[in-house]
Amino acid sequence: MTFRATVLTLYPDMFPGHLGQSLAGKALERGQWAMDAVQIRDFAADRHRTVDDTPAGGGAGMVLRPDILARAIDHVSDGDTRPKLLMSPRGKPLTQEKVRELAAGDGVIIVCGRFEGVDQRVIDSRELEEVSIGDYVLSGGEPAALTLLDAVIRVLPGVMGNDLSGVHESFEGGLLEHPHYTKPQIFEDLEIPAVLTSGNHGAIAKWRAAESLKLTEERRPDLLAAARKIADKG
Ligand code: SAH
Repeated sequence: MTFRATVLTLYPDMFPGHLGQSLAGKALERGQWAMDAVQIRDFAADRHRTVDDTPAGGGAGMVLRPDILARAIDHVSDGDTRPKLLMSPRGKPLTQEKVRELAAGDGVIIVCGRFEGVDQRVIDSRELEEVSIGDYVLSGGEPAALTLLDAVIRVLPGVMGNDLSGVHESFEGGLLEHPHYTKPQIFEDLEIPAVLTSGNHGAIAKWRAAESLKLTEERRPDLLAAARKIADKG
């Protein structure tokens, strides 16, 4: 089964973007995942291919029309069981857990908003799941879709050279990852922590776990609280 992403956008040329490079790009060439970017404008009915209109109730900006977007969604999702996502700052924040869940499926359909956003009726009628990539506002859903797909593709089987490297990372164990070091042994008078060059694998694992905990306590106490909650339940 090949993971297949279909993206609905006013800017299909933004895809596959950076996902055409590096490991994701090689995996795309090998057919380990596939993507198509569909122009929403192709589903407009008028000569000018209009997709937006002024907000009901007044106010700034433009809103994507529900009828055109619905036609586009229905066209790509006919008989399709893939989840339908809408990139949106109002959505549920994307997590590594959600990334893993999506990667375990057969793909996604992603709607990229623009302007002020999307008419609420198409979100409701097509049961779009709103997903946010963080508490800030982008000018369009495309970079958010690329970010989500990047995170999903890198955990697909066989995409990263070393399949194990995915499981020891930030968030995977509910904690942030420990610091990394490499050669040279001394950089501007700073040495690699001695334990890492000791060859004592038990001590190294212990050091890494302690550093990981310390960093998470300092930077993301919210993650620790969440991990504790899960541990208490289990
Ligand atoms: N007026 C809207 C913002 C629209 S931004 C509001 O205040 O909620 C235009 C489009 O960019 C959105 O429709 C969405 O698709 C995308 N976008 C902006 N910020 C995003 C974020 N943090 N995560 C995901 N998508 C985002």
